Amino acid sequence: MIAVLKQGTTDKQIEKLTEWLKSQGVGVHLSKGSLHTVVGLIGDTSKIDAELLESLDIVDSVKRISEPFKSANRKFHPDDSIINVGNTSVGGNIFTLIAGPCSIESEEQVMNIARSVKNAGATMLRGGAFKPRTSPYDFQGLKAEGIELLVKAKKETGLPIVTEIMNSNHLELFEDVDVIQVGARNMQNFELLKELGRTRKPILLKRGLANTLKELLMSAEYIMSGGNESVILCERGIRTFETYTRNTLDLSAVPMLKELSHLPVIVDPSHATGMSRLVKPMSLAAAACGAHGLMIEVHNDPQHALCDGAQSLTPEEFSDVSSAVKRILDAVNGLNI
Ligand code: PEP
Ligand code: MN
Repeated sequence: MIAVLKQGTTDKQIEKLTEWLKSQGVGVHLSKGSLHTVVGLIGDTSKIDAELLESLDIVDSVKRISEPFKSANRKFHPDDSIINVGNTSVGGNIFTLIAGPCSIESEEQVMNIARSVKNAGATMLRGGAFKPRTSPYDFQGLKAEGIELLVKAKKETGLPIVTEIMNSNHLELFEDVDVIQVGARNMQNFELLKELGRTRKPILLKRGLANTLKELLMSAEYIMSGGNESVILCERGIRTFETYTRNTLDLSAVPMLKELSHLPVIVDPSHATGMSRLVKPMSLAAAACGAHGLMIEVHNDPQHALCDGAQSLTPEEFSDVSSAVKRILDAVNGLNI
């Protein structure tokens, strides 16, 4: 349920209303917009008398929210959420360009890639330390050492870092990580999501291989209901009957998610297609349809990458994509990197 307050309602009046609602057993989420404050009621609202609430002097209107996701719902928070990450932000009018290797392989590799993607306009560095691999015999990542190397690259370049968590027991290793990624395979690992809800780190939540947008938003809700409202959604392709591409990039997810939710939405064209030559056209399309950013795999030597070489761009190719994306943003959205 949401209550839209009248213009001019004072902080004191809002505080009084909040206290009263809490005493009725519901959680309260406030969103102060430029004109109106929206009061979101979370939990069992069946006992709240909507007519009584609407009759209060300071209340303009009351609506029940039919969608099962509440905190992530745009009705709760009409303005875009802007998530602060290190010296930058994600969401709203900002376009975020995350780039880096699929896996961190060595100090030389991650430093080399970090410098080149920064020069090419990346605003964040990605790199996997804990890798979710289909085969247990494949490279599983450098784990704690991988995170240390990523932190080193952050110190040198100043780029905030993004890396995937697979087990909440590893959380203490993520202290210097700026954005914690939840990979597609863990999108519905609800215990992990609950643990991340207890942290205050921004979470990059990737859509599961076979999950609907509602399920993605419900997973965001698991994190947000724990008190962590810094969630970035990521469309990374879904499983369909098509076999030429690794996955099928569902770009309609971008405007749909933006309509349903206030959370930033980024696109990963690398995992979506599995082919480096498709990354540029899909990046341009993602920028054109309103994505708040891109996450792109870049490797200094894709042919010898320990993971996902076929979809990784060289630093030169990434630089070309980055400038082409800037031209699209200028032409279509008026966004700035
Ligand atoms: C990744 O970003 O490295 C990754 C494993 O992606 P996904 O979870 O989308 O497959
Ligand atoms: Mn990968």
